[in-house]
Amino acid sequence: MGFPVSASLSPRLHNHWLARYGIDGVYVPMTVAPEQLERSLRALPALGFKGCNLTLPLKEEALNYVDVIDPIAESIGAINTIIVEDNGRLKGSNTDAFGFITNLKTTAGDLRKYIDHAVVLGAGGAAKAVVKALLDEGVERITIVNRTRAKAEHFIQRFGNRVHVAEFSALPQLLPSCSMLVNTTSLGMKGQEPLNITLDALPETALVTDIVYAPLETELLKAVRARGNVVVDGLGMLIYQATIGFEAWYGKMPEVDEAVRELLLAP
Ligand code: NAP
Repeated sequence: MGFPVSASLSPRLHNHWLARYGIDGVYVPMTVAPEQLERSLRALPALGFKGCNLTLPLKEEALNYVDVIDPIAESIGAINTIIVEDNGRLKGSNTDAFGFITNLKTTAGDLRKYIDHAVVLGAGGAAKAVVKALLDEGVERITIVNRTRAKAEHFIQRFGNRVHVAEFSALPQLLPSCSMLVNTTSLGMKGQEPLNITLDALPETALVTDIVYAPLETELLKAVRARGNVVVDGLGMLIYQATIGFEAWYGKMPEVDEAVRELLLAP
């Protein structure tokens, strides 16, 4: 469910896995306006749905309409996955943090050498899941850099004193100590403005990841790859966040392989 939902790659992904594992099911995109969210969610058990995913702008609103919120969704303050339990109750969860960190580990291996200081660009919905995942992974210091400072400051209230806030203009002073740089803004995405930052002060040992996956190789990733940094693209986050939803609904952890990535990258 989303508003709009037409650009979502999730139907392609889940229907691929359903076919692959011979599961009699279908994943359908549904356009749901925020004012229809409660009624739409309440209809899921009666219509025989195992659950649903939620995308913009429904993730926060859904907290009001489920029967149980699991600790990870509570902590992030947003629901992206709903499971219809056997008794018809709706459980709200969030798989974005798992998707983000599993993608990093799968691509970059042991993250311990990157956990001193993460600089996170952006303070939107996705950034909350990213920050939660990084804190759970033991990152010692996270500096959030966002155009709207007040939104970044909310992260300190939500996540505590390992989180700090800075302006884009402070990046030249922040980057020398940065062991992981994460772009969670929509800058650099197809159709959006470019992400214009100067990377000169970023150590070559830093891990760089961009959760924007359209294009797959963003200008940020292109620039840091050329300097020798370890680079992780954003497509894996989308795929891995879907795996645990699929498992919760159908009891099968789907395999992630190159074929899945190619399926999502196909026009
Ligand atoms: P969001 O809640 O709308 O947040 C957008 C963020 O981008 C905010 O921090 C916003 O800053 C910043 N931003 C937007 N335009 C800007 C500009 N012109 N200058 C400076 N900052 C700007 O969106 P979201 O849900 O967090 O998603 C962000 C991006 O992540 C999207 O591209 C989305 O496709 C991608 N994403 C990827 C995955 C994945 O699985 N790989 C998952 C979720 C999201 P302000 O606070 O100042 O407005």
